[in-house]
Amino acid sequence: MSNLIFSFKNKKIKNLKNPKNILGGKGANLSEMGRLGLPVPPGFIISTEVCDLFYKNKKKLPKQIVKNIQLELKNIEKITGKKFGDLKNPLLVSVRSGARISMPGMMDTILNLGLNDQTVKALANKTLNGRFAKDSYRRFIQMYGNVVLNIEDHLFEEMIDNHKLNKGVLLDTELNENDWNELIQRFKELVKKRTKKNFPQNVQEQLYRAITAVFLSWESQRAKTYRKLNKIPDHWGTAINVQSMVFGNMGNDCSTGVVFTRNPSTGENLFYGEYLINAQGEDVVAGTRTPQHITKKAKAAANSKEATMEEVMPKVYLDLKKTLEKLEKYYKDMQDVEFTVENKKLWILQTRSGKRTAGAAIKIAVDMVKEKLINKKEAILRIDPNTLDTLLHPTLDKKAKKKIIAKGLPASPGAAYGKVVFTAEEAEHLNSMMQNTILVRVETSPEDIHGMHAAKGILTARGGMTSHAAVVARGMGRPCVSGTTEITIDYLNKEFKAGSITVKEGDLITIDGATGEVILGIVPTVQPKISEYFSTIMSWSNEFKKLKIRTNAETEKDSKVAREFGAEGIGLCRTEHMFFDQERILSVREMILSKTKENRNKALAKLLPHQKNDFKEIFKVMYGLPVTIRLLDPPLHEFLPKTQKEIDEVSVSLKINSREVKDRIDELHEQNPMLGHRGCRLGISFPEIYEMQCEAIFEALVECKKEKIKSVIAEIMIPLISTDIELKILRNLINRVADKIQKKHKTKIDYTVGTMIELPRAALQAKEIAKYADFFSFGTNDLTQTTFGISRDDSSKFLNDYINNKIFQIDPFVSLDQSGVGELIEIASTRGRETNKKIKLGICGEHGGDPNSIEFCARTGLNYVSCSPFRVPVARLSAAQAELKKKLFDSCC
Ligand code: ADP
Ligand code: MG
Ligand code: MG
Repeated sequence: MSNLIFSFKNKKIKNLKNPKNILGGKGANLSEMGRLGLPVPPGFIISTEVCDLFYKNKKKLPKQIVKNIQLELKNIEKITGKKFGDLKNPLLVSVRSGARISMPGMMDTILNLGLNDQTVKALANKTLNGRFAKDSYRRFIQMYGNVVLNIEDHLFEEMIDNHKLNKGVLLDTELNENDWNELIQRFKELVKKRTKKNFPQNVQEQLYRAITAVFLSWESQRAKTYRKLNKIPDHWGTAINVQSMVFGNMGNDCSTGVVFTRNPSTGENLFYGEYLINAQGEDVVAGTRTPQHITKKAKAAANSKEATMEEVMPKVYLDLKKTLEKLEKYYKDMQDVEFTVENKKLWILQTRSGKRTAGAAIKIAVDMVKEKLINKKEAILRIDPNTLDTLLHPTLDKKAKKKIIAKGLPASPGAAYGKVVFTAEEAEHLNSMMQNTILVRVETSPEDIHGMHAAKGILTARGGMTSHAAVVARGMGRPCVSGTTEITIDYLNKEFKAGSITVKEGDLITIDGATGEVILGIVPTVQPKISEYFSTIMSWSNEFKKLKIRTNAETEKDSKVAREFGAEGIGLCRTEHMFFDQERILSVREMILSKTKENRNKALAKLLPHQKNDFKEIFKVMYGLPVTIRLLDPPLHEFLPKTQKEIDEVSVSLKINSREVKDRIDELHEQNPMLGHRGCRLGISFPEIYEMQCEAIFEALVECKKEKIKSVIAEIMIPLISTDIELKILRNLINRVADKIQKKHKTKIDYTVGTMIELPRAALQAKEIAKYADFFSFGTNDLTQTTFGISRDDSSKFLNDYINNKIFQIDPFVSLDQSGVGELIEIASTRGRETNKKIKLGICGEHGGDPNSIEFCARTGLNYVSCSPFRVPVARLSAAQAELKKKLFDSCC
């Protein structure tokens, strides 16, 4: 019961073990900045433990807390010399949410609390600034009305817009004291109409209801969605900061702003931010006025004419600069800082690690190592592996013709095209039908996040580089163009205009988040260049990782891409993928449909040269590295002819009539093909198929040898083994073919034979199976399927129910089920090694590219993971992180 309320200055904070867990990120940092001697307005923190108590206490504030709040308020009054609710010198406070991890804009904050019809007069008298006092009061009614009384914000905003329209002005700053007076009246009428009560005048009531509302905002729909997307546990709760107000809206020597210590889009080591003169709080982010640059450099780069803070308030700018440098040195990371200037005095209101694009994250980490702020290990641990592949994905082809219809701010890099939609719901709807969309909004709000997630890109008409749309899109890795003032959006008619062009819902557009261009139609894309920073992080990863990273590839092209990304071999080459080729499918069908061995051999003979060439192409690319080739695996019916035309084709070449072909197709029909005649069972029934495949592999190896190409380490893999005898028989088959080819060419061929472990029985029988295996490769797709008894292709129907009911934390086909499937992997590894100490262990399957699964593989002592080519860098970084985390774990326990 001791961790309930803390003044920012409370000495106990220094000794807290995990201050952010108790104080929230915002509160912990506000208090820490105070200790660093930075100018932070006084305040106190109501801890996350109180949030817990609040929810346990039927959503009411416990009594003892109420008492403590009063004590802390007195404390602020003492420091500031102001009094809460006072009629001469009233204290105003902000009530700010703040969870452990920052959830930008997801929860609520109320400013200027403590104003009422009386104190607003006192504020006006005291500051000799009636306009400022009234502006503050209307803001308070608006925020309190929205957060506590649940009145939609746009109703207030529309009143302001109408008033400006009647008056013939454009900006809020052009409204005077009388205008705000009128609006305050109308705001209060709206409150009365909606709540049937007058706007609360009692400042204590205001405070408690605001605190209650902020706690409740933890359970708001948008906060819940955000937590789900970002895997933040529901039980964490939020802390609340009650802080004395400072004012950026008192006149032209006041301002408010947001600044990053480095560029969050590119990582460049230059301040990057925006500010607004005579404004408060969220004005910069809300996009109601277009903010101005902070530094002259940024102004020049953006070709802007608006005056910068560096020019307008040079002294305060210097203070800010020093503060930012101090903060970055102290936190050893790029900071995202909120500040306010009140009558030329700088106040810092928040600092946190800034969200950044994957490209910026890499550059900043590498730069900071060079600057000796952090070391290589820290740099590696800083980067979220999942964001890496956004860097590898296509950008717009520079040479392609494009019809640019508008230009906005380059808010989040990457290019995307899709159908125009105007609502988050429509983006979600089309996404569920696998259609690409671009979400077009005047500005986005936290309610839109599910749609931003579903869309391929985001385009907004308003808002700067630190607007909601920009920040969220960068975090998600979605391309975003913000502040596109050249477009006007008409939600009602579902269209937007860019000059003379009208774009309707469903029309295709392309956006380029790196340049801010909005383009009509689809523009071709190209592969991006890999930056030197990316390569540096990759080479550092190799210094620490122990796992080998291989790739799943069956074409020359994929193999090349993977090797360029640093793949150390192929972990899974699925031979059947080579069967689908136009030229070959007919022979494959002949092979499957022939009733006699003789006919089947004829068809196989046609396939042999193709397979041999495929292998040769791959071997040439992967020279010197291991290549695991899996013999035919899927149920044969996957290759069968489906249309009448296809059936006729086969019947002609097999010289049987199409009735017979159809009969044979019916014969091959299986109730449950995934558990049917597939994998090694095909090799047992039709040894000639596997013989042909092995012949192709060995012939390819011999040809490479003759051409003096450095040999690959050939590993032949047999799928779907459940007993040692299957493997024994098929291993013998492979050896026989090898002997034949060795004799034929009078040369020796090196190869190994192993199996996939993808059935629970195989995992349990690993000790027996290992007698005949040089390696095990865990086929975790099938192993997950067979362990759970859940078909991957049907799981989507109930997966959400399982996640909502917390049965699954995450789709087990995406991230390995470490307790169940993982246990089978551990059992098989241990038992396999009992028989064969040198057995090589690896996994192939989607999990090979998933950071959490990779960490599991590293812990379990596997030798390699294999993943798709574009995931190779992700896997390299994850494998390095896994080793570094292992050491952290070892040293703390
Ligand atoms: P969020 O978590 O959404 O960023 P904050 O609690 O940081 O919400 O509040 C939003 C903005 O309100 C801040 O950026 C700051 O500009 C302003 N603000 C908050 N508290 C104060 C205060 N005590 N004095 C002046 N401005 C404040
Ligand atoms: Mg903030
Ligand atoms: Mg399989």
